[in-house]
Amino acid sequence: MGPLQIKEILQATPENQPVTLKGWVRTKRESKNAIFIALNDGSTIHNIQAVAQPGQFPDELIQIVTTGACLKITGQLVESQGSGQAVEVKVESIEVYGAADPDVYPLQPKKHSLEFLREIAHLRPRTNTFGAILRIRHALAFAVHQYFNDRGFFYLHTPVITASDAEGAGEMFRVTTLDLNKIPRTEEGAINFKEDFFGREANLTVSGQLEGELGAMALSKIYTFGPTFRAENSNTTRHLAEFWMIEPEMAFFELEDNMDAAEDFVKTVIAYALENCKDDLNFLQNRLAEEDKNKPQNERSIPLLEKLSFVVDNPFERLTYTEAIEILLKSKPHKEKKFQYPVGWGIDLSSEHERYLVEKHFKKPVILTNYPKEIKSFYMKLDEDGKTVRAMDVLFPGIGEIIGGSQREENYEKLLGRVHEVGIDPQNLWWYLETRKFGTAPHSGFGLGFERLVLFVTGMSNIRDVIPFPRYPKSAEF
Ligand code: ATP
Ligand code: MN
Repeated sequence: MGPLQIKEILQATPENQPVTLKGWVRTKRESKNAIFIALNDGSTIHNIQAVAQPGQFPDELIQIVTTGACLKITGQLVESQGSGQAVEVKVESIEVYGAADPDVYPLQPKKHSLEFLREIAHLRPRTNTFGAILRIRHALAFAVHQYFNDRGFFYLHTPVITASDAEGAGEMFRVTTLDLNKIPRTEEGAINFKEDFFGREANLTVSGQLEGELGAMALSKIYTFGPTFRAENSNTTRHLAEFWMIEPEMAFFELEDNMDAAEDFVKTVIAYALENCKDDLNFLQNRLAEEDKNKPQNERSIPLLEKLSFVVDNPFERLTYTEAIEILLKSKPHKEKKFQYPVGWGIDLSSEHERYLVEKHFKKPVILTNYPKEIKSFYMKLDEDGKTVRAMDVLFPGIGEIIGGSQREENYEKLLGRVHEVGIDPQNLWWYLETRKFGTAPHSGFGLGFERLVLFVTGMSNIRDVIPFPRYPKSAEF
């Protein structure tokens, strides 16, 4: 399909065969004997070196061959004369598809800060770092679909626009076609949503889970993989306003099966990246090592590939919320009052607590289960004690919560009781409640924030750098 890409050409045996290169100039270097053009087309982290002779082309042409310009080069694939690459291209013709004036083109061959690159998100895919991240992101997305397909799950497309405001997972973005300058009112003066597009209030989804459960009650094993929206005003390095979530939902799975599924799933997709993204992971590992050079020894991170292999090769630690609280109460930072937030049974663990458990205490991924019902969603199955629910959170080093899941309450009376307790109008959820009236079944599921996975695998530190065009408070450019 189409001409060979640079990735394929770099792997070919050089036999002076004719090749055509199409790509963007990364660097141009002129010496007395040759002009070296490093070209990249995004198919790989590696550039191909094209070599022209001084005087072979008019000066006006060579002058516009600058970083960022897009070229078509024809020539011969030969064994490289220099070190650093196996093959290179002896240039015969150059066509400039598009120049990139070096006086204004913002991506020059030097180190740019990630903050600066966020301001030019339209161009940052052309950098080594973002090229690597985007290729790894793709590989992980592919591995997700492959994982579920191979195991008999069906990809269920849950709606992006929803009218259920019951999940309570986060602040929602409203969807409306009402004229904001002429808002229709009821006689009591409230906004009259009957006149809105759907005849009622509508929002962008915060999770596909509730609809996912409907699918699992018919197809047994389903998963969703789609965009999710939360208008959370938290300016953190782990939250986006628009992110992609993977939500498998399985009939006949109890909490244990759910934990096994979640652990096997993340391990398998990480192993896929290790196997299929070697060059890009190596590049990111070196990049991190370079950054670490400026840090004191004890703050340096373990090499990226080692970190990923460790997660794949070792069982996750599993314990209950109650056991975790006991560990935190006995911990040094708690005794020395180093935690910012208080510890005690019933608290919603904050990221510092999660990270203590994962990074300091167990030094491996942790699955916490059986949380107090007060801090978890209404749909989670009550434990026998009536105090805790069959929830599970998977916590990762450097990230904190990467997966949240649970066994769902399948008992109609108990579920209805929880709906009333948390103050949801059951009318809004009549369709969800009916699954418990007609052929209810034990079932479980979880949600993985795709960007948190990409964050972990790439070793990046800000979630805004692992999605092509991030959405966060006050930012929706591009
Ligand atoms: P957190 O406590 O980190 O805000 P949460 O408890 O709100 O997470 P859930 O509602 O359980 O998260 O969502 C499931 C998963 O979605 C989380 O485990 C996480 O990986 C991811 N996630 C949640 N909110 C965001 C966000 N704003 N941006 C990116 N990923 C998110
Ligand atoms: Mn949240």
